Amino acid sequence: MITLRSVLYILAFALFIYGLMGLTGPRTAVRGNAIAAAGMVVAVVATLLTPGLSNWGLIVFGLVVGTVIGVPAARRVKMTAMPQMVALFNGVGGGAVALTAWVEFRDSAGFQGEPAFVPIATLFAAIIGSISFWGSLVAFGKLQELVPGRPISVGRLQLPLNVLLLVGAVVCAVAIGLGSGAELLLVAVLVLAGLAGIAVVLPIGGADMPVVVSLLNAFTGLSAAAAGLALSNTAMIVAGMLVGASGSILTDQMAKAMNRSIPSIVAGGFGGTASSAPVTSSGTVRSIGAADVAIQLAYAGQVIVVPGYGMAVAQAQHAVQDMAKLLVDRGVGVSYAIHPVAGRMPGHMNVLLAEADVPYEQLKEMDEINDEFARTDVALVIGANDVTNPAARTDPNSPIYGMPILNVDQAKAVIVLKRSMRAGFAGVDNPLYTDPRTAMLFGDAKSSVREVVEELKAL
Ligand code: NDP
Repeated sequence: MITLRSVLYILAFALFIYGLMGLTGPRTAVRGNAIAAAGMVVAVVATLLTPGLSNWGLIVFGLVVGTVIGVPAARRVKMTAMPQMVALFNGVGGGAVALTAWVEFRDSAGFQGEPAFVPIATLFAAIIGSISFWGSLVAFGKLQELVPGRPISVGRLQLPLNVLLLVGAVVCAVAIGLGSGAELLLVAVLVLAGLAGIAVVLPIGGADMPVVVSLLNAFTGLSAAAAGLALSNTAMIVAGMLVGASGSILTDQMAKAMNRSIPSIVAGGFGGTASSAPVTSSGTVRSIGAADVAIQLAYAGQVIVVPGYGMAVAQAQHAVQDMAKLLVDRGVGVSYAIHPVAGRMPGHMNVLLAEADVPYEQLKEMDEINDEFARTDVALVIGANDVTNPAARTDPNSPIYGMPILNVDQAKAVIVLKRSMRAGFAGVDNPLYTDPRTAMLFGDAKSSVREVVEELKAL
């Protein structure tokens, strides 16, 4: 029978899908996000129209708590802290699914009289939701630097430990599925799966965190879809599958961008947050002043700007755009090389540069621009480090060996703007800085670019 609820659900799904389509490009992303959010409001209203719903006091209380915590947190979060925010919000989704599974177990007195698919889907949701919640909390802790970003493991025992925890959770779930109504078993499922989530994410190094967050996001979607199946809630199934599918595609694309396989990421051990680690390589570092940078840029035919996390920290994007305009006015060709994992979240550089009104045609993806570097007079690196590290290409012993990088070292001249010789997110040495073609302009990226702008105006 067609009810108002089912019509609203269909409207919500259409809005989700239409909103997701908007997320495929920076021009339409903000609108896409708003459309998907409107879809979620419609889905919540439809769910509140479920016949026999009671406990209105609790429902309103939940909505108020969520709004009071969520809205200011999302408004205040800095762009650079967005990945940990995503990790946290995603984890909460997984936790909610795990708790829903528990409630479902209690409501049906251990799935008494339920068809087989209900306990199977609910227990699957409990395991995956709990892994996602606890794993996301660890990912949040690492990105927020509350937990050390370096891999933390118990060595060779790690894999057997992870398998043991997961098998333990599955065994308890099977016992419930076979008819045991003991609530302790369900608690054991949640605890063992949660410990498995923690044990899997702790040994993963900081450099792989973006992929892990995206993978856990896909897990949350899958667990929500499974819970929706058990509760016969179409909205949860559709929204969960959309999150699961888009999260899986994103995970795959990010793993490919870093030339890493998902199993090797989950096996852990790659990179760590060592932004305070000094560069250890020997070799001479050539320092340069803003006036010389301005001259080099002004008389170049072609300049490629390589933005990275440091540009985001310094909020230098507007100054960079001012500088690029001055160069273009002088007849210099300017483009921006965007590495897929530059910054701290997918699309980070695109978002910042779009905010500064950089023309889209100047933004070039890595594959599109990498061959251009050899023909470029100056590669201007602004707060990027790991994504320019030639060791990823040349040093089989480097932890980032194999990760595709921007071919900055092939440009005729390289100018790097950063504050010190400290390492980037992966905590590894960057031989680009001691390359004879490289000069370093030390300082906060925004101040440095502003100085260059002043010098350019004075030329
Ligand atoms: P990196 O983290 O490798 O390097 C950033 C550099 O910016 C640092 O070396 C730092 O040097 C410099 N910096 C910091 N603050 C400033 C400032 N105010 N002014 C000037 N420079 C500054 O960044 P990349 O973008 O090159 O690489 C991204 C890394 O982050 C990769 O390892 C990626 O795997 C990882 N990652 C990516 C995510 C994503 O989704 N994009 C998410 C999470 C991690 P100094 O301190 O000397 O100034």
